[in-house]
Amino acid sequence: MPELPEVETVRRTLSELITGKTIQNVTVSLPRIIQRPDDIEHFALELQGHTITDVGRRGKFLRIIMDGLVLVSHLRMEGRYGVYESEEPIEKHTHVIFHFTDGTELRYKDVRQFGTMHLFHPGEELTQKPLMKLGLEPLDDGFSLEAFTEVIGSRKTKIKVALLNQEYVVGLGNIYVDEALFKAGIHPEKVACELSGQELARLYAAIVQTLSDAVKAGGSSIKSYVNGQGEMGMFQHALQIYGRKAQPCVNCGAPVEKSVVGGRGTHYCPSCQPFVAAVAKKKQ
Ligand SMILES: [Zn+2]
Repeated sequence: MPELPEVETVRRTLSELITGKTIQNVTVSLPRIIQRPDDIEHFALELQGHTITDVGRRGKFLRIIMDGLVLVSHLRMEGRYGVYESEEPIEKHTHVIFHFTDGTELRYKDVRQFGTMHLFHPGEELTQKPLMKLGLEPLDDGFSLEAFTEVIGSRKTKIKVALLNQEYVVGLGNIYVDEALFKAGIHPEKVACELSGQELARLYAAIVQTLSDAVKAGGSSIKSYVNGQGEMGMFQHALQIYGRKAQPCVNCGAPVEKSVVGGRGTHYCPSCQPFVAAVAKKKQ
């Protein structure tokens, strides 16, 4: 599943490729991708004649911004966008095609069919599902240590579980939570409200750095997108802890451990991320 850095890379790529293009018409061959409005004919009709002015992002949702409309799109497991010339053959699993007036097309392909699109008038999208309850945006300038401490530092759940909750901080999935906790030297099962101010500050910095590095790494895959592979895939970059079970820790050489936290496979170094039980913990 794409996490924030992957979606951010798709956003930047799409922004370069489709900003300024005007929609002539839209073809939908899998109605359930379109969540709003209910009627796909209405969806297609609404979009006709609108020009794309920017591509934004909120958490893992893309916001394709037009003059007078906003399309909120979530790629879920396998969703992919690609820009094609209209005469190019249409690949299997292509469910939505935005035909532009310049003869090119934005095609949405989704093998698993879990992706969603919601169409709104500008501003409306932030007060309704699926964006309304989303938490802090970690790559925004406004993401401060104070705000992070307030939102995360009060939670009585395990820190990993708190970080995965999109109502607190958006865009962190299983991979980058493990990476950020490793970078900050914090055990994933520590209780969020028992973290010290220093630990929260380290974690805050680690989240920003982990996500920024991943976005930078993602930039290198833009070339393949433009060069006619036609789609934006996931990119691999150096992960320091995730997926490295039993391999030596990059810091200390101890074997990386894997456990399950909040139902998710979790990687950590038992030596760099020690679990010190809080003294004040109540016995049940
Ligand atoms: Zn280690």
